[in-house]
Amino acid sequence: MASEKQINVGGVLIGGGAPVAVQSMTTTKTFDADATLAQVLRLQEAGVDIVRVAVPGLPDADALPRIVAESPVPIIADIHFNASLAIRAMDAGVAAVRINPGNIGGADKVREVVAKAQETSTPLRIGANSGSLPEHLKWTATSDPIGALVQAAMEEVELLEELGFHDFKISVKSTSVPVMIGAYRKLSGLVPYPLHLGVTEAGTLVTGAVKSSIGIGTLLEEGIGDTIRVSLSVDPVEEVRVAYDILRALGLRHMGPEMISCPSCGRTNVEVHVLAEIVETRLRGYKEHFEVAVMGCAVNGPGEAGDADFGIAGGRDAGHIYAHGEVLKRVPQDQLVDEMFAEVDRWIAAGMPRPERGRRKLSLPVVGGPS
Ligand code: SF4
Repeated sequence: MASEKQINVGGVLIGGGAPVAVQSMTTTKTFDADATLAQVLRLQEAGVDIVRVAVPGLPDADALPRIVAESPVPIIADIHFNASLAIRAMDAGVAAVRINPGNIGGADKVREVVAKAQETSTPLRIGANSGSLPEHLKWTATSDPIGALVQAAMEEVELLEELGFHDFKISVKSTSVPVMIGAYRKLSGLVPYPLHLGVTEAGTLVTGAVKSSIGIGTLLEEGIGDTIRVSLSVDPVEEVRVAYDILRALGLRHMGPEMISCPSCGRTNVEVHVLAEIVETRLRGYKEHFEVAVMGCAVNGPGEAGDADFGIAGGRDAGHIYAHGEVLKRVPQDQLVDEMFAEVDRWIAAGMPRPERGRRKLSLPVVGGPS
């Protein structure tokens, strides 16, 4: 279930039915405020709602006031082992702090951090990670990794609740997709707090996107989860793109245009993957939400892409451009992409009118095929 409680991270509402928020984390040295802010801006252009920055030392904490002041999106400080850095971060005005109460230096240090969070109305993110479970749960984890992860998180929850603090969200991340799915399912039945979903250290672009899509997507489809971070070993901008692909696929949020493309087959006379990459790159320049189809032929391509706002279907020398299920024109192959985008621009300038339609009527023949 979506969480009962809602927290406010620098103006971005998380939980309690708010739209699923997209997060990422910078890969720059946080003390390099110029580089960090430049990356935050790129993430914001990609649609990120919240950005987390690592704060491993004093120079990083010292850079926070400027980063917080100049960032266009809320900043979360990620802090381990050092309560005084967490307190400095809150004094710098960060929107939230991610801490692990189990490694922040004992009960007194947790109390200090919570007192500052209460004083500054700063939400916290707590939670466990299968790679850094507390010692007393490591043996449990060998036979019951889900139970160990949830128990670690619940011990943190109880600690904060005993201090009268309830302004937090929780994560129970694992590199194992079945373990993280099981842990979040279990945790969602135990707490009313917002859940931050992620498959930790998911991997490179393709592997990580697949693991994250299955893990995060499965939970979101069940109504579990309030904010997501796709962890990839690539440019964090890709994390945001994959996060939106997951949300878009589930019909939860849209960010910019959506492209569908056929897998190609022996009927095509064009390189569909090249066309698709060109179109996908150009679509990144649009903020509007619309759908474009890139199909390899005019046999059943248009039929299968009939719900798209615009589309192209490749041909030997000339291809078709279609809009809202109707063929607009036939143009030479080398002008196909430019001509379609000219039509898209005209349509956007006209206010993006969409005709009433049921199943689209197509001027092209529609026959069976492998799409
Ligand atoms: S038949 Fe389908 S898969 Fe094959 S090229 Fe045409 S649209 Fe693409």
